[in-house]
Amino acid sequence: MAEFKLTPENYYTQEANRHYLSKSVFTDFEKCEVAALAKMNGEWEPQRDETPLLVGNYLHSYFESKEAHQDFLKQTDSAGKTNESKMISSAGKTKGQLKKEFKVAKQMIDRLAEDEAFNQLYLPGQKEVIVTGDIHGIQWMGKIDSLDLENEFFYDIKTSKDLHSGAWIKTEDGRNQKVPFVQGFGYDIQMAIYRELIRQTFGVTCQPLIFAVSKQTPCELMGITFDGDDEQALLDAALERIEEKQPHIKAVIDGIEKPVGCGMCEYCRSKSTISTNLIGATQIKLS
Ligand SMILES: [Zn+2]
Repeated sequence: MAEFKLTPENYYTQEANRHYLSKSVFTDFEKCEVAALAKMNGEWEPQRDETPLLVGNYLHSYFESKEAHQDFLKQTDSAGKTNESKMISSAGKTKGQLKKEFKVAKQMIDRLAEDEAFNQLYLPGQKEVIVTGDIHGIQWMGKIDSLDLENEFFYDIKTSKDLHSGAWIKTEDGRNQKVPFVQGFGYDIQMAIYRELIRQTFGVTCQPLIFAVSKQTPCELMGITFDGDDEQALLDAALERIEEKQPHIKAVIDGIEKPVGCGMCEYCRSKSTISTNLIGATQIKLS
């Protein structure tokens, strides 16, 4: 394999994904292997509202640096539209004002900016630090929001509609279970990977702390720690889940094993035909 050097410029590319596993690729494959592979090969893009991603980048870049925030605002898409112009309402009574979601994002920024713990902990850390390492024989990558090696902590900002409403996940035996949003969105697995990659990159074992902000008015701020025995067990279990599932995922990416479709996601729906989706009336899967 040709030499590949991971940089801030190529971190979010499919080429990087072919060399390193990441939390988002791993969880994509957990959800549906055929969809994840089609996305990785550039054959398919999920239809999605880009607003939550823009809100997240607006907030993250604000606390990264003035330059990063300006770069984010001026960044253009393939149609030449800047992120800043996408944040402004172009019609109706609110024309010329920030769209609703970005007014909320502004409130989220203001609340974090005046929060004492956030200022003391998150702001001094090194931002957007790329880490890599070997997890059970496979190369992984991660990007740390804010890293404080001296005090042995790393920080991540997470935004969520409501910090208490939880999320539904499918258990190993196929049941639906409601869990706190940290597990529902795979942030437990992300924190476990980041802790291990920081340890391998810098030789320091850091503990995660999530600064969670709700997208409500007023928004709720929460500091989520992983110090307790239950939380440490959650991180250990996440690494075990990787160890168990990644050999197959890697083999699918490398074209050695066949991907399995979930049969229900956006991609699988788009590929369904009557003859390939002929099924007994009692056998229909429930989401
Ligand atoms: Zn699927």
